[in-house]
Amino acid sequence: MTPRVSLVGAGPGDPELLTIKAVRALRRATVVLVDDLVAGGVLRYVRRSARVIHVGKRGGCASTPQAFIEKLMIAQAQRGEQVVRLKGGDPFVFGRGGEECEALRAAGIDVEVINGLTAGIAAPAAVGIPVTDRRFTQGVALVTGHGSDHEPDWAALARSRLTLVIYMGVARVHGLVAALLAGGLHGDTPAAVVSAAHTPQQRHALCTLASLVDSIAAQRLASPAILIVGDVVRAAPMWAELPLRERRLG
Ligand code: SAH
Repeated sequence: MTPRVSLVGAGPGDPELLTIKAVRALRRATVVLVDDLVAGGVLRYVRRSARVIHVGKRGGCASTPQAFIEKLMIAQAQRGEQVVRLKGGDPFVFGRGGEECEALRAAGIDVEVINGLTAGIAAPAAVGIPVTDRRFTQGVALVTGHGSDHEPDWAALARSRLTLVIYMGVARVHGLVAALLAGGLHGDTPAAVVSAAHTPQQRHALCTLASLVDSIAAQRLASPAILIVGDVVRAAPMWAELPLRERRLG
């Protein structure tokens, strides 16, 4: 039998948001390699006898080098183990799923990709923000705020009028807000932050682009968090309850 690895998306946190396919893959796994953004509750579907290996990938902290993770997956699959590579959200959305697929295929290993619910859609929805609401926008851009290698073209994104959903943006929020304002977005553009969405620690703030930095600081919202910038934030039920001062000026 050709060795195989399942690249599985664990969704944003709540185990009930796993797909049935993901649960089935977890149940048959003998080895599970887990990223640290995966909520613990998801692992309840893994057999007791399975080996669970945590390979953290938190920005800035010590984490297992990517090459080592790939080698480990390949070695385990070649030994005949049922390997699941479990990632937060969706494996192909800022999850290095593409790179891992390439490495596995190059080693002659079959890869099965099982989608998960990505935080960029699930976190806004958790506070009632429909990211493509046609009354406000023509679409949504999922972008990284981390920008270590390639900085997104914030000015082009500002002009696009798309809903901006920013992953890994909290640490650099100051710079990216400045870039969006310089790119022509109004300070009173609605914005939101949703931290630890779909977990018991979920918290959020609704504000404006101009007040985003202060809102994050004031409410001590921390990673993992999704930033949302665009008029769709007005659709959140709690938007109407914000004081006018905050809605306009921040
Ligand atoms: N593959 C993942 C994204 C990994 S990048 C996915 O599809 O969701 C890590 C970033 O995802 C975090 O910095 C944060 O921006 C976001 N994120 C992941 N889980 C989250 C959650 N439960 N709530 C809010 N943001 C989350």
